[in-house]
Amino acid sequence: MIELVKDQRGSPVRRIILALTIVLLSPAFARAEAPADGQRLILVTMDGTRWQEVFRGPDKALVAEPKFTDPDRQQTIEQAWGSGPAVMPFLHSLPAQGGVLYGNRDAGDCMRLTNPMWFSYPGYNEMLTGRPDPAITTNDKIWNRNVTFLEWLNHRPGFAGKVRVYATWDVFPYIINEQRSGVPVNAESPGARPTETRTMRLAQQALRSANGLRVLYVALGDTDTFGHEGNYAQYLASMNRDDDFIAELWRMAQADPAWRGRTTLIVTTDHGRGAKPGAYWKEHGSAAAWKLNSPDYTIADPEGFKGSDEIWLAAIGPGAHAAPVGSACFTQGQVAASALTALGEDWKAFDAGAAAPLPFFTGR
Ligand SMILES: [Zn+2]
Repeated sequence: MIELVKDQRGSPVRRIILALTIVLLSPAFARAEAPADGQRLILVTMDGTRWQEVFRGPDKALVAEPKFTDPDRQQTIEQAWGSGPAVMPFLHSLPAQGGVLYGNRDAGDCMRLTNPMWFSYPGYNEMLTGRPDPAITTNDKIWNRNVTFLEWLNHRPGFAGKVRVYATWDVFPYIINEQRSGVPVNAESPGARPTETRTMRLAQQALRSANGLRVLYVALGDTDTFGHEGNYAQYLASMNRDDDFIAELWRMAQADPAWRGRTTLIVTTDHGRGAKPGAYWKEHGSAAAWKLNSPDYTIADPEGFKGSDEIWLAAIGPGAHAAPVGSACFTQGQVAASALTALGEDWKAFDAGAAAPLPFFTGR
């Protein structure tokens, strides 16, 4: 902003004093550390986390069921997380801070997958590329033929070499197509559980180091793992741990001049879980997906794990604001354009056919 340019109006020193005076008197000074350029993004995903627990908190029937919740943990859950906001207090604090927490179907919100599979690889592909790919029908380690917005950014001026992914699940190098995209994807799992604490530590180190990073994607996976195991107490504990981690990441970003005031945080999930009572919460996937991938598996319900296409999203930062939503049902593919818009990038230059940004992301 202050340059030693000699002009007819005075000496360089006078010009500096003038420029400083203008800056200090300007109402924009309060935002001086958040220039329109240099925007940054933190994206966090929590694999297979249902909107039901995010908004309603623990399902009393699942807590009371010894098959899903160890009896000596039932009372602890009741006491600690008896109500929804208590499981994810940070996410629930976002609307009061000008941010967004969307996807509560009890309140009329609606966000869903458009891929017909309702499991991870098709979901992350839809989220990161802006559209579903009907050819992705497994979680196999196949190099993604599609370009994610992370890969696109990694070839943009100002972003090259400044995009990183830390993931708990070892399929992420393939989803991001690490070898083609050049986006470093750390997906080393120590094997021990909870596996994602290592992912969290590495992501925090990346944010802390002065490496010029502008886009940090942290893909957490324990919620899905414990869900499949039918361990409801640990599923809830993972959600709560993730919320703590996200809060700490956001606190760190606000304490760092490189991130403060120019960082938008987006939190979402790749898919939901079955919504019907009983054991449905453990699994996810459409009937078509199960038929394709597990022909031997008999699901009692021809609808598959209905409800696992229902998702949610949270966001805060200069690129995200509460906005009227009308009666639309938003889609997972809108995340890609939303993220690019928050970064001040033209999402149509990425893919004009991608789903448009969510109304919470209007650019700066
Ligand atoms: Zn899963």
